[in-house]
Amino acid sequence: MQYDVIVAGTGPGGASAARGLSDQGAKVLMLEWGGGDAFNGSQAQSLSMIGVPGKNILVTPEALIVGRATTVGGSTSLYCATAFNPPLEMLQRVGVDISREAEEIKGDLPCATLDDSLVGQGASRLMDSAQSLGYDWQKLQKFIYQEKCRLGCYKCYTGCPYGAKWTARNFVEQATEAGATLLTRARVRRVIVRRKQAAGVVFHHEGRDKRAYAPVVILAAGGLGTPVILRRTGIQEAGYDFFVDPLVIAFGVTEDFEGGGEVPMTAGMHLEEGIMLTDLALHPSVYRGFSAQIMRFDKVFSHKRVLGIMVKIRDDLGGRLTDYGGVRKYLGKADWKRLDKGYHVARKVLKRAGATECFKSWNIAGHPGGTAKIGDVVDANLMTRYDSLYVCDCSVIPEAWGVPPSYTLACLGKRLSRRLCA
Ligand SMILES: Cc1cc2nc3c(=O)[nH]c(=O)nc-3n(C[C@H](O)[C@H](O)[C@H](O)COP(=O)(O)OP(=O)(O)OC[C@H]3O[C@@H](n4cnc5c(N)ncnc54)[C@H](O)[C@@H]3O)c2cc1C
Repeated sequence: MQYDVIVAGTGPGGASAARGLSDQGAKVLMLEWGGGDAFNGSQAQSLSMIGVPGKNILVTPEALIVGRATTVGGSTSLYCATAFNPPLEMLQRVGVDISREAEEIKGDLPCATLDDSLVGQGASRLMDSAQSLGYDWQKLQKFIYQEKCRLGCYKCYTGCPYGAKWTARNFVEQATEAGATLLTRARVRRVIVRRKQAAGVVFHHEGRDKRAYAPVVILAAGGLGTPVILRRTGIQEAGYDFFVDPLVIAFGVTEDFEGGGEVPMTAGMHLEEGIMLTDLALHPSVYRGFSAQIMRFDKVFSHKRVLGIMVKIRDDLGGRLTDYGGVRKYLGKADWKRLDKGYHVARKVLKRAGATECFKSWNIAGHPGGTAKIGDVVDANLMTRYDSLYVCDCSVIPEAWGVPPSYTLACLGKRLSRRLCA
């Protein structure tokens, strides 16, 4: 198999690069570890994409659960579609300017705060409560086709079957329409390097190892997947000193609230020190899982009366990945302090919103990155020390950052495709 470019992984970084390259006439092969079945909105399907221990659920020595989705579109398939503006200054410090791409992606995707008619009761109540306490709690930008979105549905987390949520799958579809080839259930093992230049990949598909060749290879297997491939290719320094963006969900049990499905992360705020709080309505079974996990069996069936706030922090860089992608990271004192402070504020907001009792989930994390940082493992063009071997996913984020990265990664993919075709 001979192509112009091979892209390993179809999250927002890889899909955006593949789309840009295919649009410009390159013959692109996308290799994706996960499957690509259409979303049907079922819990069973979402579990197959994000619920497999060791593949999607990785546990640190402190029992922090780091999650990632393995399916076409990567974690955006099950994400909350919150579109945070890219950290332009942080990237400019390492020689990367994506201001043009940020404008273009914003024009290209449905990027806006939700219309009031789509703001759920819980989100609205928490926003009123936080604002009455003097916090700057505002609606957040979403990547949602609002005319297709509906209240009373919990399906952002299961894969939106209505096509309302923009995911990296949309870019994958556009890439295939422009002529790219997508191979699902194809796990890239290593890059073939000849004379210090990428020449193709070895990947596992249908029970055996196969090879595909291209003079350009882009690794976009995510913050946890890419370092494993880099190390097998001889770049041993990948997979150290990274972030995971830990979070807890603060739950408030009320007497008078009767919740239903709503879009999660409709509104929120940032506190100093890298703490972010947003509303977080959970699917009933996810809520049950979280409350059972912390032994709050008395609250397992209280879902309708419970308000949720996500407390996410920017953790300090640290830790190492094992050669198989295991996450060995301990949170520092400052990280625990940020989580405590965020939870303390969340309790205040929940109580003002009418909660009579509060409790919190287990510690989890969903944005692993910084494992192949710009200026460290890749240069400002996202190229590794091997010619024409690039990385384009959350691995390249150069500093601890603490906010959802999909918008930024879509911009980085677009920039990379533009540079490769120039
Ligand atoms: C529940 C949840 C909610 C979130 N909400 C938001 C949000 O609202 N806004 C936001 O911006 N971000 C959100 N995120 C985070 C966001 O989805 C991720 O940070 C983002 O998708 C990372 O993109 P990526 O390109 O680095 O990798 P990923 O999205 O992880 O994609 C990597 C892809 O590579 C594939 N892969 C891995 N290894 C291999 C291999 N060896 N060979 C081939 N393929 C491979 C994987 O299957 C996957 O499809 C959320 C995450 C989760 C889990």
